[in-house]
Amino acid sequence: MSKEELRKNLDEVIWNMEEARVSLNEHHIVKLVAVGKYSEEEKIEMLYHLGQRAFGENQVQQLDSRMKSLEELPLEWHMIGNLQSNKINRLIELRPVLFQSLDSLKLAQALNQRLENKNQKMSCLLQINSAKEESKSGVSSDEAFDIYQEIKESCPQIELKGVMSIGANSDNKKLIQDSFEITHKIYDRVKKDGAYICSMGMSNDYELAISCGSNLVRIGSKIFK
Ligand SMILES: *Cc1c(COP(=O)(O)O)cnc(C)c1O
Repeated sequence: MSKEELRKNLDEVIWNMEEARVSLNEHHIVKLVAVGKYSEEEKIEMLYHLGQRAFGENQVQQLDSRMKSLEELPLEWHMIGNLQSNKINRLIELRPVLFQSLDSLKLAQALNQRLENKNQKMSCLLQINSAKEESKSGVSSDEAFDIYQEIKESCPQIELKGVMSIGANSDNKKLIQDSFEITHKIYDRVKKDGAYICSMGMSNDYELAISCGSNLVRIGSKIFK
């Protein structure tokens, strides 16, 4: 893929995001996190030269190697994938700007403990499985509000900034929309405690996610493929 193709893809995504956010509210700002997991490092570097700064990876190992080989660039890194407990220390060492996929109270407590040992804090989002899909991780939407409070109270090293969710895996737009609306309702409740990030929307559903109030989209294939 050439730089020109990459530019075209990025422009298209930004244009569509712009349209979706302005139809919701012209003051509604949406952040783009480019997900590089299908792509090579050179593409990330090219995208940086096209103006993109925030990147996400779903594996600690990949995040680690990319952060290191691109450390000369002022990039902002997000961890967006499942974190196995044996990778907690490695993630802490990497100090990502945001760990978006904190998906259980148990993981929060384990992470909190390790952060405490290192006298460090980490900004996180609580991942919600609002589509109730077996294959997805995340807390259930019924418990999300309580778990959010519990993490805030019992995990002082974790700075919760909001919620994250993956839309329903379906061709039925209504089902996807329902899953986004469920997540956004929970976001509205935790906003009172200072939450300000609602991360929803990927390549196939980011416009819909924005129309449901998402303010952070995570996009991979529409940019890199
Ligand atoms: C891969 C991934 C994305 C990006 O997916 P695309 O459909 O390629 O845009 C977003 N969020 C998470 C959690 C992912 O794992």
